[in-house]
Amino acid sequence: MVGFVYKCSTCQRRYPRDEVRYLCPECGPAYRPGMPLIGVLTAEFDYAAIHKKFRKPKPDWSLFSAVESKFFPPYAMSPTPFFHAAKLGAAFGLADVWIKNDALLPSGSLKDRASFLVVAEANRLKEQMIVTASTGNAASALAAVCAAAGKRAVIFVPQTAPKAKLVQMLLYGACVVPVQGTYDDAFRLSLDYTARYGGLNRNTAYHPLTIEGKKTVGLEMWQQNRWRVPSVIVVPTGDGVILGGVYKAFHDLRAAGLIPRLPRLVCVQAKKSDAIHRYLTTGRYRNASNPATVADSISVSIPSNAHLARAAVLASRGFSLTVTDAEILTAQRTLAATTGVFAEPAAAAAVAALGKLRAESLVGSRDQIAVLITGHGLKDVDAAMKNLHMPAAIAPTAAGLAGVAARLATKGADK
Ligand SMILES: *Cc1c(COP(=O)(O)O)cnc(C)c1O
Ligand SMILES: [Zn+2]
Repeated sequence: MVGFVYKCSTCQRRYPRDEVRYLCPECGPAYRPGMPLIGVLTAEFDYAAIHKKFRKPKPDWSLFSAVESKFFPPYAMSPTPFFHAAKLGAAFGLADVWIKNDALLPSGSLKDRASFLVVAEANRLKEQMIVTASTGNAASALAAVCAAAGKRAVIFVPQTAPKAKLVQMLLYGACVVPVQGTYDDAFRLSLDYTARYGGLNRNTAYHPLTIEGKKTVGLEMWQQNRWRVPSVIVVPTGDGVILGGVYKAFHDLRAAGLIPRLPRLVCVQAKKSDAIHRYLTTGRYRNASNPATVADSISVSIPSNAHLARAAVLASRGFSLTVTDAEILTAQRTLAATTGVFAEPAAAAAVAALGKLRAESLVGSRDQIAVLITGHGLKDVDAAMKNLHMPAAIAPTAAGLAGVAARLATKGADK
């Protein structure tokens, strides 16, 4: 590890690592529930030191880590696959589409990356209890990492979260608190809980190491891409912390003099949960009034990291767009049928966006486009089932088999 300080993304003040924990002490007190966070901290490393010490092809990634590896929990996190998805690209008229499949992390979502680093920080600070609010995946990831680390996870989650995510949290042994309300209600309650009863709060963007943790997906991708920067990275976006983390990866690499330019970041939101998209297109922030989408993981009224996410898209010369639930469910099938990857609806939203990139000439025909698959489809089979139908059972007889052959012979039948 090299040294780092925290820098406030609102006022740019800098703080030694152990002088702050969550938001900037100057800006944070003006934060009120009901608005995006202000005073979110980012880690600023000694980039000259990284430049001197970093070596390909065997890089020491701990140089980019904000927590020393001796504090890492015993949780098996290996790099996830990054591969060229030619058939998927062809389905959308794009030549060079790549998938980064974070659905294959142990708890089934990219959130493992953030939970892993925050639990490492809890080890460093000797905190035994970690509290979070989540639409589901951050909570199942925290529960999983806490199980491995022997820590207590306390989780506030909307009672409408998909069942498999709730089952994961319970199975991993977390203290699960379903809330009669939305994710935004759960977010507020979890902040109150740590303020009154202590523990380390892992809320997304509120704890700065959630951004640092998610950054590793970008670092990994750069290495897997043979040290080339993809032209475009498509990011499904709710609170905007994955977006902030991917940006931070390439920001750090550029600051260390290791890459010449940033990838263009594409922020994809659900049509009815589009606060960051509207912020980018109108320049003015407003909450999404009634976020209702099949993509529960990106269903957010008040995106906590809206300000940093907007800045990240602008700095990368990227853009944002929205997709409908119908487009998401269709894209989920297209992804599965062309790659064998089963993504949850939030992740499929990024795939759905591919349909608009060519059609609206938002990317060049030779651009390398990387799509983040952020969560596993088995976490929400009810959503996938909306767009499928289960064939009727056959009789266990020769006549039954003849029916199968007839069905396969019928053109246009469901395979
Ligand atoms: C959390 C999550 C997202 C969105 O991440 P944000 O940081 O909230 O923008 C997208 N997809 C999946 C599967 C997620 O769990
Ligand atoms: Zn500040």
